Amino acid sequence: MRSAHIDGRLVIKARRGYLDAAEASGQRFGPDPQSAFDDWEAFSSWTREFLASPDAATAPLVGTDDSTKWGPPVPRPTQIFAVGLNYRDHIAEAKLEVPTEPAIFAKFRASLTGHESAVTLPEGLVDWEAELVVVIGRYCYRATRETAWSYVAGLTVGQDLSERRMQLAGPAPQYGLAKSYPGFAPLGPELVSADEFADPDDLELGCRLEGGEVLQKSRTSRMVFDVPEIITYVSAVCPLLPGDVVFTGTPAGVGVGRTPPKFLAPGDVLVTWIEGIGTLRNPMLAQASEA
Ligand code: ZN
Repeated sequence: MRSAHIDGRLVIKARRGYLDAAEASGQRFGPDPQSAFDDWEAFSSWTREFLASPDAATAPLVGTDDSTKWGPPVPRPTQIFAVGLNYRDHIAEAKLEVPTEPAIFAKFRASLTGHESAVTLPEGLVDWEAELVVVIGRYCYRATRETAWSYVAGLTVGQDLSERRMQLAGPAPQYGLAKSYPGFAPLGPELVSADEFADPDDLELGCRLEGGEVLQKSRTSRMVFDVPEIITYVSAVCPLLPGDVVFTGTPAGVGVGRTPPKFLAPGDVLVTWIEGIGTLRNPMLAQASEA
């Protein structure tokens, strides 16, 4: 199943297009997209039943056009985890050792934004990081590899945008802040349940500049720590809560690892895709000059 956040409301995807979850469910679910995670199990079983029913064929569609405001499929997660150095090719370009345990850090939720949302570039060197993003569907503490996928509501496309100057200035990496400027965590457009994939652990992902070169292209099967391993590792310490977000790391091709280095500039449009999930598009804007 696929859900999204359109013009502030939770929508589900039928074959014909998007349907408003609150209207279709007689106000049982939505309209707040975050409320789907209050009881994801109930929401997903209702969605599947509704989409299979004759009502799905006649429900009014939520249209989308250039003026559509796409929000992140998860607008207010309690926690956002991220994994650093999780693809061997990216570790090699960073000239670092393959870690023996996942390198976990946090992004802050004020950085979330959606598909087609512009990102205002702050001062510094802003880099791209295409990532598979996992969204948690139910309370998850001390998961095992075998149970890990059962806690996942779905997958979405994300960018872990990073301002490298701040990130790398101090004696220890400043991940949390340098990756949490407004708009530095675009997600979307859709949240897709894991049963939509033949193998959710092996998806092509990448990003490119619109009208320009492919910047990153890899497969999620090349992660050092796969999704079950990440969930097991984090949930051994922190319970993962319904609606929490986990960025799973980026493959090779980031700007800071290039010779010469390359970063995002005003006017660039960053296009990020994951096979079977969708394509996330984010234009980059210059900072407004001070009056
Ligand atoms: Zn990252």
